[in-house]
Amino acid sequence: MSLPRQRPDATPFEFDNSFGRLPGAFYTRLRPTPLPDPYLVAFNPAAAELIGLDPAYCATREFVEVFSGNRVPQGADPLAAIYAGHQFGTFVPQLGDGRAILLGEVRAPDRRRWDLQLKGAGRTPYSRMGDGRAVLRSSIREFLCSEAMHGLGIPTTRALAVTGSDAPVVRETVESAAVLTRMAPSHVRFGSFEVFFHRGQEDELRTLADYVLREHFPELLSAEKPYVSLLSEIVYRTAELVAHWQAVGFCHGVMNTDNMSVLGLTIDYGPFGFLDGFDWNHVCNHSDDGGRYAYNMQPKVAHWNLYCLGQALLPLMEMEEAEAALQRYEPAFDTAYAMQMRAKLGLQTAEDGDAKLLERLLGLMHSSRTDFTIFFRSLALFDSAPGADNRGLRDQFTEREAFDAWALEYKARLAREGSVDAARRDRMDLANPVYVLRNWMAEEAIAKARDGRDYSMIAELQQLLSDPYTEQPGMQRYSGLPPGWAGAISVSCSS
Ligand code: AMP
Ligand code: MG
Repeated sequence: MSLPRQRPDATPFEFDNSFGRLPGAFYTRLRPTPLPDPYLVAFNPAAAELIGLDPAYCATREFVEVFSGNRVPQGADPLAAIYAGHQFGTFVPQLGDGRAILLGEVRAPDRRRWDLQLKGAGRTPYSRMGDGRAVLRSSIREFLCSEAMHGLGIPTTRALAVTGSDAPVVRETVESAAVLTRMAPSHVRFGSFEVFFHRGQEDELRTLADYVLREHFPELLSAEKPYVSLLSEIVYRTAELVAHWQAVGFCHGVMNTDNMSVLGLTIDYGPFGFLDGFDWNHVCNHSDDGGRYAYNMQPKVAHWNLYCLGQALLPLMEMEEAEAALQRYEPAFDTAYAMQMRAKLGLQTAEDGDAKLLERLLGLMHSSRTDFTIFFRSLALFDSAPGADNRGLRDQFTEREAFDAWALEYKARLAREGSVDAARRDRMDLANPVYVLRNWMAEEAIAKARDGRDYSMIAELQQLLSDPYTEQPGMQRYSGLPPGWAGAISVSCSS
């Protein structure tokens, strides 16, 4: 099907490139490398609406040309940003957008600015040994997962579109190239500060901090110590973010400091995974031999990463001030996590014993490898009537007597707050999703896209995952246990 052509001078974007107005030390200006014969793989109308893109424009050939990097729209100011980062605990003094190009910042109808970033748009001065490309597989995974996270109510970069090409890209096997367009108010990372700290470039460090404050935390400018407040706010947002991840069983996979957003967004989706059977020590990234980024490590790793950020900001504040800000992490995480997990358990009040109650449940789930999403969703059906056997829940455990003992405690706990089953059910359904993006779902959508250029499952999942707390008719296959073959899926850093 040939698409209508847009008038060549028509541009539906109003660019206002604040990052590009920073001094040259922060980036390299360059144009995306064209993607041969691009075609549209996925499009997200919700993201388009956010930036006020006309749906008619999104159906044009020009849209595909722009979001494959083949045509730079008027007013854009494409660049690749520099950053550094601690990768698996080791400091790497220079990273940067090695394959992502910030096309520019567009003004949304509400006047807010959004970065439009093309991921996979070719080599940049920060590409090191890489080819500057992204493969279709990982682009579809990021597209689906960022929208799934948004549907779950978790802060994240968004995804506008995926364009594909038959151009070959070599990874473990030969795959095909794709460009993912992602959007965020900013893509500044912890590593964006680290690069200047380690080079001793204090002026640049300060300029970047001032920029982030001015553009993204203007309410902190009037604080007594804006830089300290900035660090505190990032600490707080990161704690909240990771509490969210834990509560939905999301494992990021590569929590390097260059993959940590200063806005507290989930960013840089790679070998991520949602828990199927509950395992405290689950490692979703096949390349993470030491389990550094295992599920139960995420809260601690985030804190460690914040220390890296705090260190990078030391030229802007006293050591004691940074320490005090960083020490706010644990209480902030504990509070956020406790709140989220109480909601998952349907509890409305807080009791001292709640953490123990939860710990015991998770311990049982761990030894039974009880499915995390299915169990919590079904816990809403817990029947607290005398004599109820709650078989449907009990059967999800291998140690059934141990579950019975836990259920008695849970029942007593509910009774103490005068919980009413029907009302609790409704509350719990808002805290426990029916659907998450399990690896097998993404794999199946990818296989269809790759083998038959059939993008229908991507669209179906996108729709489904935009409303994950509501059971949707005809979608039972996505709310059950993963199929047997799912256990063999292995995802690694290669993308
Ligand atoms: P990641 O772990 O995917 O967040 O990437 C770590 C660093 O490697 C970042 O600086 C990326 O820009 C860079 N990188 C990853 N893949 C490629 C690639 N195919 N080509 C160029 N740079 C890449
Ligand atoms: Mg990254």
